[in-house]
Amino acid sequence: MPELPEVETTVRGLEPVLAGQVLSAVEVRRPDLRWPIPLDLGERLLGARVVRLGRRAKYGLIDTDRGDTMIFHLGMSGRWRIDPAEIGKHDHLVLTTGAGRRAALCDPRRFGSLDIVRTESLDRYAPFAVMGPEPLGNRFTAAHLREALKGRKSSIKAALLDQHIVAGLGNIYVCEALHMAHIAPGTKAGRIGTERLERLVRAVKDVLGSAIEAGGSSLRDYARPDGQLGYFAKQWRAYGREGESCACGGTIRRRVDSGRSTFFCASCQR
Ligand SMILES: [Zn+2]
Repeated sequence: MPELPEVETTVRGLEPVLAGQVLSAVEVRRPDLRWPIPLDLGERLLGARVVRLGRRAKYGLIDTDRGDTMIFHLGMSGRWRIDPAEIGKHDHLVLTTGAGRRAALCDPRRFGSLDIVRTESLDRYAPFAVMGPEPLGNRFTAAHLREALKGRKSSIKAALLDQHIVAGLGNIYVCEALHMAHIAPGTKAGRIGTERLERLVRAVKDVLGSAIEAGGSSLRDYARPDGQLGYFAKQWRAYGREGESCACGGTIRRRVDSGRSTFFCASCQR
């Protein structure tokens, strides 16, 4: 499942193909993904020039010179294919540029989404309206966390997964950041002191930053025809390593709560 770094990598991979380009053909190949695709999405994009690509949480953003922003979510299995040799049945949107390049949004399980809104009203787009700050942005600080977590009895792990507190963090990166910050995932969120919150904020930024770096180096592969954006191999400190030894000499354990696995080390996370 694509997490924030995969979406960031995808956006960076789309940039050289789409930025500055006029969309000379736009093919919307089905009416819906997870929810309906706006009926006018195709006509609003056709003939428009892409002026900027960006990301908010796990959503990719494509701005045009008409003041529109197309918003895509990759769901469970979505990816963009660059210059595909042929269009397949899972390619639901195909963009062709004036330079003759093609980008196809492929999503076999269709848990993703496609929307188009006015760029000026992007903050009011329903999923964005209630979101906390970007984890890599300047507003995600220990002071923000202290305020947002005040009096919270839930675990710090649940709090970090709460999109109102910080946007776009998924299970893997929360496990990794807590491990890096040496904080036990079950610690009550409201009872973590400033020094540990500072360590946690740094860890969140570090694990995301190094994953994006790994994704960036994997972008080379996308230069080949039919390259697919968005997935790359990563090395985890704790995630998926149940029973293996931790860097501290302890053992990584797994706990399942509400259907989600938490990987942690009881020796160095407290
Ligand atoms: Zn450890």
